[in-house]
Amino acid sequence: MQTFIHPQSDRSKAVADEPACLSGVSPLNYRHAFHAGNFADLMKHAILLQVLAQRPAATPLTVVDTHAGAGLYDLGGEAAAKSGEAALGVGRLMADPATPPEFAPLKAAIEAVNGGGPLRLYPGSPWLTVQALAPGDAYVGCELRPDDYGVLAREIPRVATAKRVRATPLQRDGYLEAAARLKASDTPLLLLIDPPFERGDEYAEVLETLAGLRRRRAASALVWLPLKDLETFDAFLRGLDALGLPDAAVAEVRLRPLSNPMRMNGCALIMIGVPDVVAQAVAICGWVATNAGEEGSRGGVCDMDGANLAKS
Ligand code: SAM
Repeated sequence: MQTFIHPQSDRSKAVADEPACLSGVSPLNYRHAFHAGNFADLMKHAILLQVLAQRPAATPLTVVDTHAGAGLYDLGGEAAAKSGEAALGVGRLMADPATPPEFAPLKAAIEAVNGGGPLRLYPGSPWLTVQALAPGDAYVGCELRPDDYGVLAREIPRVATAKRVRATPLQRDGYLEAAARLKASDTPLLLLIDPPFERGDEYAEVLETLAGLRRRRAASALVWLPLKDLETFDAFLRGLDALGLPDAAVAEVRLRPLSNPMRMNGCALIMIGVPDVVAQAVAICGWVATNAGEEGSRGGVCDMDGANLAKS
């Protein structure tokens, strides 16, 4: 595992290698089925579960998943087979008996969704979130694609009922839903913002949504971003810094040096106002970088000024 210091000018937006991901042709061209269980999902989902495990138990929490996806993915399906990303991600994770303990909640959830049998299904953020919440908590998942929304609306109420969690799948724009929720009463709220970054204005829309956190003392956010070139990500961080939100930390996985801006070279998860999971995130990012990355891969957590927050 490594932590690292990255200069502020070294971050930017990414486009995935896989053609179905980020072509920019249609706002709904992206299908997460191609990417479910890849290195980015492992990093995002393992940290998400650490955050949920450490949330204060006293007050019910509402999680708003602005870009929910289908919630459950068939790794034996055509999309997963075509991209091969799950095999390199969750396939390696589940085959490694020596993963850091910080992956235990994710591995347990994957085993549960597969009924203890062979790896066939991968749970997305809706499934993982709902099973990690407590009775009385609430989950709102927004998904615009009709096919993915159909799976979400069918699968998530099942796990929610078993957990006595209120779950609301919505075929609605996640940014609009987040904005509405941020204007409502100041009860604990966690936004999970995980866009496909198909559109050029997506970064601005994320920042506009995060600006709503300033009005809410009890609101927090996890924001996933791809890493491709350097300046796009830096510009996002400058925009975030200008919002003046407290307690932001940046978890990063770099699969390789960011020398080819046409590739997805890694990803980041911005953690705003969530419980302190820096040590856990360092371990998670380190394993992902080592096991999914190439020569020169790195994983770690920095503050908004690019300073390391923890050393492994
Ligand atoms: N968060 C999911 C997970 O971790 O399992 C993956 C989500 S995937 C990266 C992004 C999803 O957002 C896609 O399924 C896409 O159809 C959906 N989407 C795109 N724009 C949206 C919007 N404005 N509101 C809601 N969903 C949107």
